[in-house]
Amino acid sequence: MGKITGFMEFERIEEGYKPVTERLKDYKEFVVGLSPEQAKTQAARCMDCGTPFCNNGCPVNNIIPDFNELVFQGDWKNAIEVLHSTNNFPEFTGRICPAPCEAACVVNVNDDAVGIKSIEHAIIDRAWAEGWVTPRPAKHKTGKKVAVIGAGPAGLAAAQQLARVGHDVILFEKNDRVGGLLRYGIPDFKMEKSHIDRRVQQLQAEGVTIRTSVMVGSWPKDSKVTNWAKETISAEQLSKDFDAVLLTGGSEQSRDLPVPGRDLEGIHFAMEFLPQQNKVNAGDKLKGQLRADGKNVIVIGGGDTGSDCVGTSNRHGAVSVTQFEVMPEPPKEENRPMTWPYWPMKLRTSSSHEEGCTREFAVSTKEFIGEKGKVTGLKTVHVEFKDGKLVEIAGTEKIHKADLVLLAMGFVNPVATVLEAFGVDKDARGNAKASTELTGGYATNVSKVFAAGDMRRGQSLVVWAIREGRQAARSVDEFLMGSSDLPR
Ligand SMILES: Cc1cc2nc3c(=O)[nH]c(=O)nc-3n(C[C@H](O)[C@H](O)[C@H](O)COP(=O)(O)OP(=O)(O)OC[C@H]3O[C@@H](n4cnc5c(N)ncnc54)[C@H](O)[C@@H]3O)c2cc1C
Ligand code: SF4
Repeated sequence: MGKITGFMEFERIEEGYKPVTERLKDYKEFVVGLSPEQAKTQAARCMDCGTPFCNNGCPVNNIIPDFNELVFQGDWKNAIEVLHSTNNFPEFTGRICPAPCEAACVVNVNDDAVGIKSIEHAIIDRAWAEGWVTPRPAKHKTGKKVAVIGAGPAGLAAAQQLARVGHDVILFEKNDRVGGLLRYGIPDFKMEKSHIDRRVQQLQAEGVTIRTSVMVGSWPKDSKVTNWAKETISAEQLSKDFDAVLLTGGSEQSRDLPVPGRDLEGIHFAMEFLPQQNKVNAGDKLKGQLRADGKNVIVIGGGDTGSDCVGTSNRHGAVSVTQFEVMPEPPKEENRPMTWPYWPMKLRTSSSHEEGCTREFAVSTKEFIGEKGKVTGLKTVHVEFKDGKLVEIAGTEKIHKADLVLLAMGFVNPVATVLEAFGVDKDARGNAKASTELTGGYATNVSKVFAAGDMRRGQSLVVWAIREGRQAARSVDEFLMGSSDLPR
Protein backbone atom coordinates (compact mmCIF):
# COMPACT_ATOMS: atom_id res chain seq x y z
CA MET A 1 0.00 0.00 0.00
CA GLY A 2 1.33 3.44 -0.89
CA LYS A 3 -1.08 5.96 0.61
CA ILE A 4 -4.34 4.82 2.22
CA THR A 5 -6.48 7.26 0.27
CA GLY A 6 -4.19 7.47 -2.78
CA PHE A 7 -6.50 5.53 -5.10
CA MET A 8 -9.25 8.11 -4.41
CA GLU A 9 -6.99 11.15 -4.71
CA PHE A 10 -4.87 10.40 -7.77
CA GLU A 11 -5.71 9.29 -11.27
CA ARG A 12 -3.86 6.68 -13.29
CA ILE A 13 -0.96 8.22 -15.21
CA GLU A 14 -0.16 6.63 -18.57
CA GLU A 15 3.38 6.54 -19.96
CA GLY A 16 3.80 8.99 -22.83
CA TYR A 17 4.53 8.27 -26.49
CA LYS A 18 6.60 10.37 -28.88
CA PRO A 19 4.40 11.83 -31.66
CA VAL A 20 3.61 9.44 -34.52
CA THR A 21 5.37 11.54 -37.19
CA GLU A 22 8.55 11.50 -35.13
CA ARG A 23 8.56 7.85 -34.14
CA LEU A 24 7.84 6.59 -37.66
CA LYS A 25 11.21 7.99 -38.77
CA ASP A 26 13.20 5.26 -37.04
CA TYR A 27 13.04 1.97 -35.12
CA LYS A 28 13.89 3.38 -31.69
CA GLU A 29 11.74 2.95 -28.58
CA PHE A 30 9.25 5.81 -28.27
CA VAL A 31 7.66 5.24 -24.85
CA VAL A 32 8.45 8.01 -22.38
CA GLY A 33 8.59 6.41 -18.94
CA LEU A 34 7.27 7.91 -15.70
CA SER A 35 9.40 10.45 -13.84
CA PRO A 36 10.31 9.47 -10.25
CA GLU A 37 7.57 11.84 -8.99
CA GLN A 38 4.96 10.35 -11.32
CA ALA A 39 5.99 6.83 -10.30
CA LYS A 40 5.60 7.81 -6.63
CA THR A 41 2.10 9.20 -7.27
CA GLN A 42 1.16 6.10 -9.24
CA ALA A 43 2.49 3.84 -6.46
CA ALA A 44 0.39 5.82 -3.96
CA ARG A 45 -2.71 4.49 -5.77
CA CYS A 46 -1.93 0.95 -4.60
CA MET A 47 -4.69 0.43 -2.03
CA ASP A 48 -4.66 -1.67 1.14
CA CYS A 49 -6.77 -4.30 -0.60
CA GLY A 50 -5.77 -7.15 1.69
CA THR A 51 -5.70 -9.80 -1.03
CA PRO A 52 -3.48 -8.55 -3.85
CA PHE A 53 -4.91 -10.33 -6.89
CA CYS A 54 -2.29 -8.55 -9.02
CA ASN A 55 0.38 -10.78 -7.50
CA ASN A 56 -1.52 -13.85 -8.74
CA GLY A 57 -2.38 -12.26 -12.08
CA CYS A 58 1.33 -11.77 -12.75
CA PRO A 59 2.80 -15.02 -14.15
CA VAL A 60 6.11 -14.53 -12.26
CA ASN A 61 4.15 -13.50 -9.14
CA ASN A 62 5.89 -10.16 -8.80
CA ILE A 63 5.38 -8.87 -5.25
CA ILE A 64 3.65 -5.77 -6.53
CA PRO A 65 2.26 -4.15 -3.33
CA ASP A 66 5.74 -4.32 -1.76
CA PHE A 67 7.58 -2.61 -4.59
CA ASN A 68 4.79 -0.04 -4.88
CA GLU A 69 5.22 0.78 -1.19
CA LEU A 70 9.02 1.06 -1.58
CA VAL A 71 8.69 3.41 -4.57
CA PHE A 72 6.20 5.50 -2.60
CA GLN A 73 8.75 5.69 0.26
CA GLY A 74 11.53 6.60 -2.21
CA ASP A 75 13.46 3.39 -1.45
CA TRP A 76 14.22 2.49 -5.08
CA LYS A 77 17.19 0.30 -4.21
CA ASN A 78 15.08 -2.10 -2.20
CA ALA A 79 12.33 -1.87 -4.81
CA ILE A 80 14.67 -3.43 -7.40
CA GLU A 81 15.67 -6.12 -4.90
CA VAL A 82 12.00 -7.07 -4.49
CA LEU A 83 11.45 -6.98 -8.25
CA HIS A 84 14.52 -9.08 -9.02
CA SER A 85 13.49 -11.65 -6.41
CA THR A 86 10.76 -12.88 -8.79
CA ASN A 87 11.77 -11.60 -12.23
CA ASN A 88 15.22 -11.90 -13.85
CA PHE A 89 14.49 -9.36 -16.57
CA PRO A 90 12.00 -6.65 -15.52
CA GLU A 91 13.28 -4.36 -18.30
CA PHE A 92 11.79 -6.84 -20.82
CA THR A 93 8.43 -7.18 -19.08
CA GLY A 94 8.30 -3.49 -18.07
CA ARG A 95 8.35 -2.75 -21.81
CA ILE A 96 6.40 -5.49 -23.56
CA CYS A 97 4.30 -7.39 -21.05
CA PRO A 98 0.55 -6.98 -21.70
CA ALA A 99 0.22 -6.64 -17.90
CA PRO A 100 -2.34 -9.23 -16.81
CA CYS A 101 -1.52 -7.97 -13.28
CA GLU A 102 -3.38 -4.74 -14.06
CA ALA A 103 -6.50 -6.62 -15.18
CA ALA A 104 -6.39 -8.32 -11.73
CA CYS A 105 -5.72 -5.10 -9.73
CA VAL A 106 -8.45 -4.51 -7.13
CA VAL A 107 -8.73 -0.82 -8.11
CA ASN A 108 -9.66 -2.11 -11.58
CA VAL A 109 -12.96 -3.46 -10.22
CA ASN A 110 -14.58 -0.05 -10.66
CA ASP A 111 -11.78 2.39 -11.56
CA ASP A 112 -8.53 2.50 -13.58
CA ALA A 113 -5.96 -0.06 -12.42
CA VAL A 114 -2.69 1.01 -10.80
CA GLY A 115 -0.10 1.45 -13.56
CA ILE A 116 1.94 -1.51 -12.30
CA LYS A 117 3.87 -2.08 -15.52
CA SER A 118 4.95 1.56 -15.73
CA ILE A 119 6.23 1.40 -12.12
CA GLU A 120 8.14 -1.81 -12.92
CA HIS A 121 9.63 -0.05 -15.97
CA ALA A 122 10.66 2.96 -13.85
CA ILE A 123 12.28 0.80 -11.14
CA ILE A 124 14.46 -1.27 -13.46
CA ASP A 125 15.51 1.62 -15.71
CA ARG A 126 16.58 3.55 -12.62
CA ALA A 127 18.40 0.50 -11.24
CA TRP A 128 20.45 0.17 -14.44
CA ALA A 129 21.13 3.91 -14.52
CA GLU A 130 22.31 3.89 -10.88
CA GLY A 131 24.58 0.86 -11.44
CA TRP A 132 22.59 -1.34 -9.04
CA VAL A 133 22.31 -4.24 -11.49
CA THR A 134 25.53 -6.20 -11.13
CA PRO A 135 26.62 -9.82 -11.70
CA ARG A 136 25.88 -12.24 -8.85
CA PRO A 137 28.26 -15.15 -9.43
CA ALA A 138 27.88 -18.28 -7.31
CA LYS A 139 30.12 -18.54 -4.23
CA HIS A 140 30.67 -22.28 -4.73
CA LYS A 141 30.75 -24.43 -7.86
CA THR A 142 28.89 -27.76 -7.91
CA GLY A 143 30.91 -29.37 -10.70
CA LYS A 144 27.66 -30.23 -12.55
CA LYS A 145 27.25 -29.33 -16.23
CA VAL A 146 23.95 -28.18 -17.72
CA ALA A 147 23.20 -27.56 -21.41
CA VAL A 148 20.41 -25.07 -22.09
CA ILE A 149 19.22 -25.17 -25.72
CA GLY A 150 17.61 -21.98 -26.98
CA ALA A 151 18.49 -18.49 -25.74
CA GLY A 152 15.08 -16.83 -25.62
CA PRO A 153 13.73 -15.41 -22.34
CA ALA A 154 13.08 -18.94 -20.98
CA GLY A 155 16.62 -20.14 -21.70
CA LEU A 156 18.20 -16.91 -20.45
CA ALA A 157 16.25 -16.96 -17.16
CA ALA A 158 17.02 -20.65 -16.61
CA ALA A 159 20.73 -20.22 -17.42
CA GLN A 160 21.01 -17.32 -14.98
CA GLN A 161 19.29 -19.19 -12.15
CA LEU A 162 21.38 -22.33 -12.71
CA ALA A 163 24.68 -20.42 -12.87
CA ARG A 164 23.84 -18.54 -9.67
CA VAL A 165 23.63 -21.83 -7.74
CA GLY A 166 27.02 -22.91 -9.05
CA HIS A 167 26.36 -25.12 -12.08
CA ASP A 168 28.45 -24.85 -15.25
CA VAL A 169 25.94 -23.70 -17.83
CA ILE A 170 26.41 -23.67 -21.58
CA LEU A 171 23.68 -21.92 -23.51
CA PHE A 172 23.39 -23.10 -27.14
CA GLU A 173 21.62 -20.85 -29.65
CA LYS A 174 21.18 -21.50 -33.37
CA ASN A 175 20.83 -17.80 -34.22
CA ASP A 176 23.83 -15.52 -34.53
CA ARG A 177 22.61 -13.45 -31.56
CA VAL A 178 21.00 -14.27 -28.25
CA GLY A 179 17.42 -13.38 -27.24
CA GLY A 180 15.01 -15.64 -29.15
CA LEU A 181 11.92 -13.78 -30.32
CA LEU A 182 12.94 -10.80 -28.20
CA ARG A 183 15.89 -10.40 -30.59
CA TYR A 184 14.43 -11.64 -33.87
CA GLY A 185 10.70 -11.04 -33.98
CA ILE A 186 9.75 -8.28 -31.55
CA PRO A 187 10.57 -4.99 -33.29
CA ASP A 188 13.24 -2.68 -31.88
CA PHE A 189 10.66 0.10 -31.49
CA LYS A 190 8.94 -2.06 -28.83
CA MET A 191 12.19 -3.13 -27.19
CA GLU A 192 15.69 -2.02 -28.19
CA LYS A 193 18.17 -4.88 -28.24
CA SER A 194 20.76 -3.19 -26.02
CA HIS A 195 18.61 -4.42 -23.11
CA ILE A 196 19.41 -8.01 -24.09
CA ASP A 197 23.12 -7.25 -24.65
CA ARG A 198 23.45 -5.86 -21.13
CA ARG A 199 21.92 -9.01 -19.66
CA VAL A 200 24.18 -11.19 -21.82
CA GLN A 201 27.19 -9.45 -20.26
CA GLN A 202 25.75 -10.04 -16.81
CA LEU A 203 25.13 -13.75 -17.53
CA GLN A 204 28.65 -14.16 -18.86
CA ALA A 205 30.10 -12.47 -15.78
CA GLU A 206 28.08 -14.96 -13.70
CA GLY A 207 29.77 -17.82 -15.54
CA VAL A 208 27.31 -18.73 -18.31
CA THR A 209 29.05 -19.78 -21.54
CA ILE A 210 27.12 -18.72 -24.61
CA ARG A 211 27.57 -20.50 -27.94
CA THR A 212 25.69 -18.83 -30.77
CA SER A 213 25.18 -20.10 -34.36
CA VAL A 214 25.09 -23.65 -33.01
CA MET A 215 22.13 -25.84 -33.92
CA VAL A 216 21.36 -28.75 -31.66
CA GLY A 217 20.05 -31.58 -33.84
CA SER A 218 19.21 -30.89 -37.48
CA TRP A 219 16.81 -28.45 -39.14
CA PRO A 220 14.14 -29.55 -41.62
CA LYS A 221 15.19 -28.53 -45.13
CA ASP A 222 11.66 -27.43 -46.07
CA SER A 223 11.25 -25.19 -42.99
CA LYS A 224 10.51 -21.54 -43.75
CA VAL A 225 11.97 -20.57 -40.35
CA THR A 226 15.33 -19.00 -41.17
CA ASN A 227 18.30 -21.05 -40.00
CA TRP A 228 21.42 -18.99 -39.32
CA ALA A 229 23.39 -21.78 -37.61
CA LYS A 230 26.93 -22.44 -38.79
CA GLU A 231 27.59 -25.51 -36.70
CA THR A 232 25.56 -28.46 -35.46
CA ILE A 233 25.90 -30.61 -32.39
CA SER A 234 24.05 -33.86 -31.85
CA ALA A 235 21.65 -34.76 -29.05
CA GLU A 236 23.78 -37.87 -28.30
CA GLN A 237 26.85 -35.70 -27.77
CA LEU A 238 25.05 -33.37 -25.37
CA SER A 239 23.51 -36.26 -23.46
CA LYS A 240 27.00 -37.70 -23.05
CA ASP A 241 28.73 -34.43 -22.08
CA PHE A 242 26.17 -32.91 -19.69
CA ASP A 243 24.54 -33.91 -16.40
CA ALA A 244 21.25 -32.29 -17.47
CA VAL A 245 19.78 -30.76 -20.62
CA LEU A 246 17.05 -28.11 -20.70
CA LEU A 247 15.18 -27.55 -23.97
CA THR A 248 13.94 -23.96 -24.37
CA GLY A 249 13.75 -23.85 -28.19
CA GLY A 250 10.47 -21.92 -28.47
CA SER A 251 7.54 -22.60 -30.78
CA GLU A 252 8.64 -21.39 -34.17
CA GLN A 253 6.40 -23.17 -36.66
CA SER A 254 4.12 -20.47 -38.11
CA ARG A 255 0.49 -21.30 -38.93
CA ASP A 256 0.01 -21.33 -42.71
CA LEU A 257 -2.98 -20.40 -44.86
CA PRO A 258 -3.18 -23.08 -47.55
CA VAL A 259 -5.79 -21.48 -49.82
CA PRO A 260 -5.52 -21.23 -53.64
CA GLY A 261 -2.71 -18.88 -54.73
CA ARG A 262 -0.57 -19.42 -51.60
CA ASP A 263 2.50 -20.05 -53.79
CA LEU A 264 2.39 -16.59 -55.39
CA GLU A 265 5.39 -14.33 -54.87
CA GLY A 266 4.79 -11.65 -52.22
CA ILE A 267 3.10 -13.84 -49.59
CA HIS A 268 5.31 -14.38 -46.53
CA PHE A 269 5.17 -15.42 -42.93
CA ALA A 270 5.55 -12.51 -40.49
CA MET A 271 8.63 -14.28 -39.20
CA GLU A 272 10.28 -14.02 -42.62
CA PHE A 273 9.64 -10.25 -42.52
CA LEU A 274 10.22 -9.05 -38.93
CA PRO A 275 13.63 -10.66 -38.13
CA GLN A 276 15.15 -9.15 -41.28
CA GLN A 277 14.40 -5.64 -40.01
CA ASN A 278 15.87 -6.55 -36.59
CA LYS A 279 19.04 -7.63 -38.38
CA VAL A 280 19.25 -4.45 -40.43
CA ASN A 281 18.76 -2.40 -37.25
CA ALA A 282 21.65 -4.33 -35.72
CA GLY A 283 23.87 -3.14 -38.57
CA ASP A 284 23.82 -6.31 -40.70
CA LYS A 285 23.80 -6.01 -44.49
CA LEU A 286 21.03 -8.09 -46.03
CA LYS A 287 20.67 -8.83 -49.71
CA GLY A 288 17.11 -8.34 -50.98
CA GLN A 289 15.48 -7.43 -47.69
CA LEU A 290 11.75 -8.08 -47.73
CA ARG A 291 10.33 -4.55 -47.63
CA ALA A 292 6.94 -2.87 -47.66
CA ASP A 293 7.95 0.48 -49.25
CA GLY A 294 5.43 1.70 -51.80
CA LYS A 295 3.28 -1.41 -51.33
CA ASN A 296 -0.28 -2.12 -50.32
CA VAL A 297 0.25 -4.42 -47.37
CA ILE A 298 -2.31 -6.84 -45.98
CA VAL A 299 -1.53 -8.46 -42.65
CA ILE A 300 -3.59 -11.57 -41.91
CA GLY A 301 -3.92 -12.11 -38.15
CA GLY A 302 -5.04 -9.66 -35.51
CA GLY A 303 -2.61 -10.37 -32.66
CA ASP A 304 0.71 -8.98 -31.44
CA THR A 305 2.73 -10.37 -34.34
CA GLY A 306 0.31 -8.83 -36.82
CA SER A 307 0.48 -5.50 -35.03
CA ASP A 308 4.30 -5.64 -35.19
CA CYS A 309 4.05 -6.18 -38.97
CA VAL A 310 1.81 -3.08 -39.15
CA GLY A 311 4.35 -0.93 -37.25
CA THR A 312 7.27 -2.19 -39.34
CA SER A 313 5.40 -1.75 -42.66
CA ASN A 314 4.55 1.86 -41.74
CA ARG A 315 8.20 2.54 -40.92
CA HIS A 316 9.18 1.11 -44.31
CA GLY A 317 6.79 3.53 -46.02
CA ALA A 318 3.91 1.29 -47.13
CA VAL A 319 1.19 2.94 -49.23
CA SER A 320 -1.55 1.28 -47.21
CA VAL A 321 -1.66 -1.20 -44.35
CA THR A 322 -4.73 -3.32 -43.64
CA GLN A 323 -5.04 -5.95 -40.94
CA PHE A 324 -7.56 -8.78 -41.08
CA GLU A 325 -8.86 -10.70 -38.11
CA VAL A 326 -11.15 -13.69 -38.60
CA MET A 327 -12.88 -13.29 -35.21
CA PRO A 328 -15.65 -10.68 -34.73
CA GLU A 329 -14.69 -7.28 -33.29
CA PRO A 330 -14.62 -7.58 -29.48
CA PRO A 331 -16.39 -5.00 -27.26
CA LYS A 332 -14.51 -1.75 -26.53
CA GLU A 333 -15.01 -2.17 -22.79
CA GLU A 334 -15.09 -5.38 -20.81
CA ASN A 335 -17.93 -6.26 -18.45
CA ARG A 336 -15.79 -5.97 -15.31
CA PRO A 337 -18.08 -7.75 -12.82
CA MET A 338 -18.05 -10.69 -15.25
CA THR A 339 -14.35 -10.72 -16.13
CA TRP A 340 -12.34 -9.34 -13.16
CA PRO A 341 -9.72 -10.49 -12.07
CA TYR A 342 -9.13 -12.39 -15.31
CA TRP A 343 -7.73 -11.16 -18.64
CA PRO A 344 -10.75 -9.72 -20.45
CA MET A 345 -11.66 -10.01 -24.13
CA LYS A 346 -11.85 -6.45 -25.39
CA LEU A 347 -10.71 -4.40 -28.35
CA ARG A 348 -7.01 -3.64 -27.97
CA THR A 349 -5.53 -0.85 -30.03
CA SER A 350 -1.73 -0.98 -30.10
CA SER A 351 0.63 1.93 -30.69
CA SER A 352 1.27 0.41 -34.15
CA HIS A 353 -2.43 0.57 -34.98
CA GLU A 354 -2.45 4.23 -33.95
CA GLU A 355 0.35 4.88 -36.44
CA GLY A 356 -1.97 4.06 -39.37
CA CYS A 357 -3.86 0.89 -40.19
CA THR A 358 -7.29 -0.19 -41.38
CA ARG A 359 -8.57 -3.02 -39.25
CA GLU A 360 -11.21 -5.42 -40.50
CA PHE A 361 -12.83 -8.04 -38.30
CA ALA A 362 -14.78 -11.21 -39.10
CA VAL A 363 -12.94 -11.53 -42.43
CA SER A 364 -11.77 -14.84 -43.89
CA THR A 365 -9.39 -15.10 -46.85
CA LYS A 366 -10.65 -17.49 -49.54
CA GLU A 367 -8.01 -17.06 -52.21
CA PHE A 368 -4.89 -15.14 -53.20
CA ILE A 369 -5.04 -13.54 -56.64
CA GLY A 370 -2.01 -12.80 -58.81
CA GLU A 371 -0.54 -11.84 -62.15
CA LYS A 372 2.64 -13.26 -63.65
CA GLY A 373 3.27 -15.28 -60.51
CA LYS A 374 3.03 -12.27 -58.15
CA VAL A 375 0.30 -11.54 -55.65
CA THR A 376 -1.94 -8.60 -56.62
CA GLY A 377 -4.80 -9.08 -54.20
CA LEU A 378 -6.93 -11.43 -52.24
CA LYS A 379 -10.53 -12.53 -52.13
CA THR A 380 -12.28 -12.43 -48.76
CA VAL A 381 -15.67 -13.18 -47.30
CA HIS A 382 -17.25 -12.01 -44.07
CA VAL A 383 -17.97 -14.65 -41.46
CA GLU A 384 -20.19 -14.96 -38.40
CA PHE A 385 -20.71 -17.43 -35.57
CA LYS A 386 -23.63 -19.85 -36.04
CA ASP A 387 -24.14 -22.78 -33.68
CA GLY A 388 -20.65 -22.23 -32.28
CA LYS A 389 -19.00 -22.33 -35.73
CA LEU A 390 -17.69 -19.57 -37.99
CA VAL A 391 -19.68 -19.65 -41.23
CA GLU A 392 -19.46 -17.49 -44.37
CA ILE A 393 -22.09 -14.79 -44.96
CA ALA A 394 -23.42 -15.16 -48.51
CA GLY A 395 -22.93 -12.16 -50.80
CA THR A 396 -20.07 -10.58 -48.80
CA GLU A 397 -17.19 -11.64 -51.04
CA LYS A 398 -14.76 -8.83 -51.79
CA ILE A 399 -11.45 -8.36 -53.64
CA HIS A 400 -8.68 -6.36 -51.89
CA LYS A 401 -5.57 -5.00 -53.58
CA ALA A 402 -2.30 -6.27 -52.11
CA ASP A 403 1.36 -6.26 -53.17
CA LEU A 404 2.63 -7.81 -49.97
CA VAL A 405 0.73 -10.24 -47.73
CA LEU A 406 2.08 -11.08 -44.29
CA LEU A 407 0.75 -14.15 -42.49
CA ALA A 408 0.61 -13.56 -38.74
CA MET A 409 -1.86 -16.19 -37.59
CA GLY A 410 0.12 -17.56 -34.69
CA PHE A 411 2.43 -20.49 -34.26
CA VAL A 412 1.40 -24.12 -34.21
CA ASN A 413 4.27 -25.81 -32.36
CA PRO A 414 8.04 -26.12 -32.05
CA VAL A 415 10.05 -27.08 -35.10
CA ALA A 416 10.15 -30.63 -33.84
CA THR A 417 13.56 -31.90 -34.86
CA VAL A 418 15.25 -31.10 -31.55
CA LEU A 419 12.49 -32.93 -29.65
CA GLU A 420 12.80 -35.88 -31.99
CA ALA A 421 16.59 -35.87 -31.71
CA PHE A 422 16.31 -36.36 -27.94
CA GLY A 423 13.31 -38.74 -28.22
CA VAL A 424 11.09 -36.39 -26.19
CA ASP A 425 7.36 -37.21 -26.19
CA LYS A 426 5.06 -34.51 -27.55
CA ASP A 427 1.62 -33.47 -26.30
CA ALA A 428 -1.46 -33.36 -28.53
CA ARG A 429 -0.40 -29.95 -29.92
CA GLY A 430 3.14 -31.06 -30.77
CA ASN A 431 4.83 -29.31 -27.82
CA ALA A 432 7.31 -31.01 -25.49
CA LYS A 433 5.32 -33.06 -22.99
CA ALA A 434 6.23 -32.15 -19.40
CA SER A 435 4.20 -31.18 -16.35
CA THR A 436 4.70 -28.15 -14.09
CA GLU A 437 4.41 -30.10 -10.81
CA LEU A 438 6.29 -28.73 -7.82
CA THR A 439 8.44 -31.88 -7.70
CA GLY A 440 9.73 -33.29 -10.96
CA GLY A 441 8.09 -30.58 -13.03
CA TYR A 442 9.45 -29.73 -16.49
CA ALA A 443 11.05 -33.20 -16.75
CA THR A 444 10.35 -34.96 -20.04
CA ASN A 445 10.04 -38.71 -20.57
CA VAL A 446 13.79 -38.82 -21.30
CA SER A 447 16.10 -39.10 -18.31
CA LYS A 448 17.88 -35.82 -17.45
CA VAL A 449 16.11 -33.90 -20.27
CA PHE A 450 13.79 -31.03 -19.26
CA ALA A 451 11.69 -28.58 -21.33
CA ALA A 452 10.28 -25.10 -20.65
CA GLY A 453 8.94 -21.92 -22.23
CA ASP A 454 7.08 -21.85 -25.55
CA MET A 455 8.63 -25.23 -26.43
CA ARG A 456 6.56 -26.76 -23.59
CA ARG A 457 3.51 -24.50 -23.28
CA GLY A 458 3.13 -23.33 -26.91
CA GLN A 459 3.52 -19.75 -28.15
CA SER A 460 2.81 -17.48 -25.19
CA LEU A 461 4.31 -14.41 -23.54
CA VAL A 462 7.76 -13.30 -22.42
CA VAL A 463 6.66 -13.22 -18.79
CA TRP A 464 5.47 -16.86 -18.99
CA ALA A 465 8.78 -17.84 -20.60
CA ILE A 466 10.67 -16.21 -17.71
CA ARG A 467 8.46 -18.02 -15.19
CA GLU A 468 8.98 -21.38 -16.87
CA GLY A 469 12.74 -20.83 -17.19
CA ARG A 470 12.98 -20.03 -13.47
CA GLN A 471 10.82 -22.95 -12.39
CA ALA A 472 12.57 -25.41 -14.71
CA ALA A 473 15.94 -24.26 -13.32
CA ARG A 474 14.72 -25.18 -9.85
CA SER A 475 13.64 -28.62 -11.07
CA VAL A 476 17.00 -29.21 -12.79
CA ASP A 477 18.85 -28.09 -9.64
CA GLU A 478 16.72 -30.43 -7.51
CA PHE A 479 17.42 -33.29 -9.95
CA LEU A 480 21.18 -32.64 -9.80
CA MET A 481 21.57 -31.89 -6.09
CA GLY A 482 18.64 -33.70 -4.41
CA SER A 483 17.14 -30.41 -3.17
CA SER A 484 17.10 -26.78 -4.30
CA ASP A 485 17.08 -23.34 -2.72
CA LEU A 486 16.00 -21.71 -5.97
CA PRO A 487 12.57 -20.06 -5.77
CA ARG A 488 9.65 -21.33 -7.86
C1 LIG B 1 6.45 -10.96 -33.50
C2 LIG B 1 6.20 -11.36 -32.09
C3 LIG B 1 5.82 -10.40 -31.17
C4 LIG B 1 5.63 -10.75 -29.84
N1 LIG B 1 5.30 -9.77 -28.96
C5 LIG B 1 5.20 -10.07 -27.65
C6 LIG B 1 4.92 -9.05 -26.70
O1 LIG B 1 4.75 -7.88 -27.05
N2 LIG B 1 4.88 -9.39 -25.38
C7 LIG B 1 5.08 -10.67 -24.96
O2 LIG B 1 5.06 -10.92 -23.75
N3 LIG B 1 5.31 -11.67 -25.84
C8 LIG B 1 5.37 -11.40 -27.17
N4 LIG B 1 5.63 -12.40 -28.07
C9 LIG B 1 5.78 -13.79 -27.58
C10 LIG B 1 7.16 -14.01 -26.94
O3 LIG B 1 8.16 -13.43 -27.73
C11 LIG B 1 7.44 -15.48 -26.74
O4 LIG B 1 6.37 -16.07 -26.01
C12 LIG B 1 8.75 -15.71 -25.96
O5 LIG B 1 9.84 -15.12 -26.64
C13 LIG B 1 9.00 -17.21 -25.76
O6 LIG B 1 10.24 -17.39 -25.14
P1 LIG B 1 11.04 -18.76 -25.27
O7 LIG B 1 12.34 -18.52 -24.60
O8 LIG B 1 10.21 -19.88 -24.80
O9 LIG B 1 11.27 -19.00 -26.84
P2 LIG B 1 11.90 -18.09 -27.98
O10 LIG B 1 11.90 -16.66 -27.64
O11 LIG B 1 11.21 -18.51 -29.24
O12 LIG B 1 13.42 -18.57 -28.02
C14 LIG B 1 13.77 -19.87 -28.44
C15 LIG B 1 15.19 -19.85 -28.95
O13 LIG B 1 15.63 -21.20 -29.16
C16 LIG B 1 16.42 -21.26 -30.33
N5 LIG B 1 16.40 -22.64 -30.82
C17 LIG B 1 15.33 -23.35 -31.25
N6 LIG B 1 15.71 -24.60 -31.62
C18 LIG B 1 17.04 -24.66 -31.42
C19 LIG B 1 18.01 -25.70 -31.65
N7 LIG B 1 17.66 -26.88 -32.14
N8 LIG B 1 19.32 -25.43 -31.37
C20 LIG B 1 19.70 -24.21 -30.87
N9 LIG B 1 18.82 -23.20 -30.66
C21 LIG B 1 17.50 -23.43 -30.91
C22 LIG B 1 15.73 -20.29 -31.26
O14 LIG B 1 16.59 -19.84 -32.30
C23 LIG B 1 15.35 -19.16 -30.30
O15 LIG B 1 16.36 -18.18 -30.21
C24 LIG B 1 5.79 -12.09 -29.43
C25 LIG B 1 6.14 -13.08 -30.36
C26 LIG B 1 6.34 -12.71 -31.68
C27 LIG B 1 6.70 -13.77 -32.69
S1 SF4 C 1 5.64 -8.94 -15.37
FE1 SF4 C 1 3.78 -8.34 -16.48
S2 SF4 C 1 2.11 -9.20 -15.22
FE2 SF4 C 1 3.96 -9.18 -13.92
S3 SF4 C 1 3.91 -7.20 -12.80
FE3 SF4 C 1 5.13 -6.87 -14.67
S4 SF4 C 1 3.65 -6.09 -16.18
FE4 SF4 C 1 2.47 -7.07 -14.52
